[in-house]
Formats: sequence, structure tokens, C-alpha cells
Amino acid sequence: MISSVSSLEDVRVYPTISKRDLWLEILRKIEPKVQRSQFITWFRDTAILGHEEGTLVVGLPLPMSLNWHLEHYRALTLQTAQELDPTIHQVVYKVDGALKDDPLRTFDLLTAFPEPKRRKLPGKQEVKLAEGIVSKILSPRYSLDNFVVGANNRLAYAACQSVSLQPGGKYNPLFLYGGVGLGKTHLLQATGNAILKQMPRATVVYTTTEDFTNQVIEAISQQRMEQFRKRYRVVDVLIIDDVQFLANKERTQEEFFHTFNTLYEDHKQVIISADRPPQELQLEDRLTSRFERGMIADVSLPDYETRLAILIGKAQEYELFIDMSVLQFIAEHATQNIRELEGILMQAVAQYELEQRVPTVKSIAEIMCKLNKDPHGEEESVGFDLPAKRSATFQDVMEAVSRYYSVSVQDMVGQSRVREILIPRQIAMFLLKKYVRMSHERVGEVFEGRDHTTVMNAVRKIEDKLQSDAQFLREVRSLEKELDFV
Ligand code: ADP
Ligand code: MG
Repeated sequence: MISSVSSLEDVRVYPTISKRDLWLEILRKIEPKVQRSQFITWFRDTAILGHEEGTLVVGLPLPMSLNWHLEHYRALTLQTAQELDPTIHQVVYKVDGALKDDPLRTFDLLTAFPEPKRRKLPGKQEVKLAEGIVSKILSPRYSLDNFVVGANNRLAYAACQSVSLQPGGKYNPLFLYGGVGLGKTHLLQATGNAILKQMPRATVVYTTTEDFTNQVIEAISQQRMEQFRKRYRVVDVLIIDDVQFLANKERTQEEFFHTFNTLYEDHKQVIISADRPPQELQLEDRLTSRFERGMIADVSLPDYETRLAILIGKAQEYELFIDMSVLQFIAEHATQNIRELEGILMQAVAQYELEQRVPTVKSIAEIMCKLNKDPHGEEESVGFDLPAKRSATFQDVMEAVSRYYSVSVQDMVGQSRVREILIPRQIAMFLLKKYVRMSHERVGEVFEGRDHTTVMNAVRKIEDKLQSDAQFLREVRSLEKELDFV
């Protein structure tokens, strides 16, 4: 029965390994060869989307990382993939925005690749500091050095700086408040990072009010309140984000009050953020008065100069080359929140990557129109008086079609005339024309400078096919639905 074993040895068997496992193996080999911060930045939320006939399709979450991968990692990725499976002979990339929140296809790199000799990582984006004490991982992206100081945040920044030099000192607790997207989380995490830099052995816990609430609920359900209270004794710095969510949660407020007191009496630093000042939070009076005992500082809307400085900083951070006039234009018109400012910058880059067009004031204006969500809301997110409702953008369409038909955006805008690419290309043109309201000329430009008559023909072809082919109609309808057009 075992006589045929020797002949089997000649057969090269590549075990069927899932795309996800294969990618993890590849990442394991790449990681030691790439600087850690680069590895985390560029390989975050990546995945293998396809592995057929020697071609490995690597999915990237953001268009802006495409060029970077092509230039810096394609050779390394191919070489590494070949070590694991010699039948692979090429690596291609495909942008898939959905990878950003798809833990089933991607890996949490910080967990899968913990820093050597660092503390153990128990869960997603968390670090275990002591028995029962878990902190969210502080993002290295947030530092006090890359925080731009302006009149809107000067006091908050100075307080954070002082706390980072002397935690548990005179600014305790430190309470930061301000609207959405104005830099509170950045400051909180940056302060935590700065403290750890100086005192690597300090136990710094950064948590959100939501996580803290969940911990309290868990402790209550397991009847382990005593342990819960004791746990926090070992903490040196407690940073808790968005405490406005404590409102109406009496039990969590009570536990927070005890935790707070324990730490405060031991001269441990507590740093808190909220979207409004303590007296407006509608929390228990004793908690409010504790907060008011310390240092309170607000972050408000940045002025033009600060917005511009932030944009210049972000552009440098992401290694983007954007003309100063364009940055100035964004800074002039996006006035409401800094996350929006960054969003526009990222869209500009995406547009550049996809359309091969350098961002101009005009193209930015178009992006802003599309982002201009609700002019009837209290405040317009970007001060632009163009179409009312947010419709799908150029990028949405390209990504949806690419996903639906498993064709890369590059192939779609490229020259191939094989049917599998041609049809999705024509559908994309049709959708862009009809729903993003791009002109024939402009769609043509995007598709590698095709003539507007080519676009007109494509649109007509699709319209005809929709009349005569029920299956095709279903496909296009489901795409439209995904893009929220119908
Ligand atoms: P909040 O927590 O107040 O809602 P965040 O801290 O998340 O806001 O800030 C939103 C984005 O804006 C982050 O990417 C952050 O880095 C950036 N940001 C905000 N203020 C500044 C600043 N002064 N300098 C640099 N970046 C900033
Ligand atoms: Mg925040």
C-alpha cells in the first residue's frame, strides 16, 4: 500500500494556501527588510485580491499608495512571493477602498507584527500594560512636533507640552474641549507619546469613553468591580477621549469618578477631552467639579495661516507634491474642520493618481463641490455654493466598477480592448457621464486622453445594451444601487 510513495516525492505539490495566508507569509518576509514605520504605513490594509496564472493581484486601500508601491515595493513583493510560490511571475496592483475596513481580508499589522521586545498585544489596536489594564495603541502619527500651533489651540498645546514634561504636576486634570476634527485626539495621543518617550516605563493608558464604558459593563457583569477599581492604581497616566459620551451613563460615571479620585490623589496625571466645556456636559456635579479643578483649554477653528501650515505639514508627511497655490486655495475655502481639510488633500492626490492630472485650483474646486454635503445644514462643510446633495464622486464610480468586475482602475483607463475590460470601461464612462455629471470631454481626459466622441459612443452603446439585455440591466442597476443612484 505504501509502495508508490517514492514516486510521489517527485511531484511538486504547492499546498493550496488561502490568499490571506499567503499574504501573511509574504508580509512576514518583507517586514524585516523594510523600516518599521514604512512597513506599517504602506502595507496597512493591503491584501491579495487575486492569484491566478502566475499573477498576484495586490489590493491597496488608497490610490495614493499606488505609485509608492510601484516604485518601492513591487520588486521586493515579487521576489518574496516567488520564494513562496515560484509560479508567480508578476505582481499587479489594484486599489480597493473597501479594504480599509475589512478585517476578514486584511491584517491588523500592529497586532500581527508587534514591535520586538514591546509589551504584549492582546487585542486589536490595543496593548496590555498590566493585569487587566489595556490601552489603545498610541498612533505614532500624532506627535507634539507635528502639531501646528495657532491662536486656536495655543493654550491647549502649551498645557499638553507642560503635562508631557511633568505629568501629575500643576495641570491635573487637563481638560481639552472643542468641536469635531479640531485636533483633540491628536493632542491627547501626542501627549501620551511624549510622556512615553521621556519615561518609557510609565504606564500610560489611552482609552475612549466607549471602551471605558464597556470595561465597566464587563466588570459589573462578572461581579469584579473590586478588581476593576484596584487595577487602575498601577496607571501613571490616564487619557480618556470624548467624555461627552459619559452623559446618561450613571454607573460608568460613578466608576470613572472613583478611578479618577484614586489617580488624582496619587498625583497621577489624568487627561480628558470632550466636545464641550465641563459645565455643559450634563454629568454628575461631583465629576464636573473635579474636572473644573484642573486646567481647561479649548481648541477652536484655526485661522487661514494655521490651516495653510497644517496642510503644508500634511503634504510633507505624505510626501505629496502639490503646488502652493492649490494648498492656499484649499486653506481659503475649507474652513470648518481640519479633518475635512485633510480629506480634500487626499482626494486631490487620489485624483492625481487616477487621472494622472496634477491637482489644480480648478480640480480642487470640483472636489470641494462634491464634498459639499449639506448646504442647508447649520454650517457648510466647505464654503462652496455648488450642487446640493453629495453625489458619488469620480473615485466612487471607478472603485465600484473596478470592484464589481474585478478589473483594476489602471486597466479601465488603459488601452486594452479585451471584452472583460472594455465593458467595465464603457460602464464607468456611462456612470460618470450620467451621475457624476462629467462632460464627455472630461471623461475622455480621464481615460488617457480619449476623444470625446469615443466617450459618446461608449455611453450610447451602454444605453442600447440596457434596452436589450436584461442581465446586463441587472448588473448596471446593482452598481447604481451600490453607488446610491437609484
Ligand atoms: P478631534 O479629536 O478633535 O475630532 P483629531 O485630533 O482627530 O480631531 O484631528 C483631525 C485631524 O486633523 C487629525 O488627522 C489631526 O492630525 C489633524 N489636526 C488637527 N489639528 C491639527 C494641528 N494643529 N496640526 C496638525 N494636524 C492637526
Ligand atoms: Mg477625537
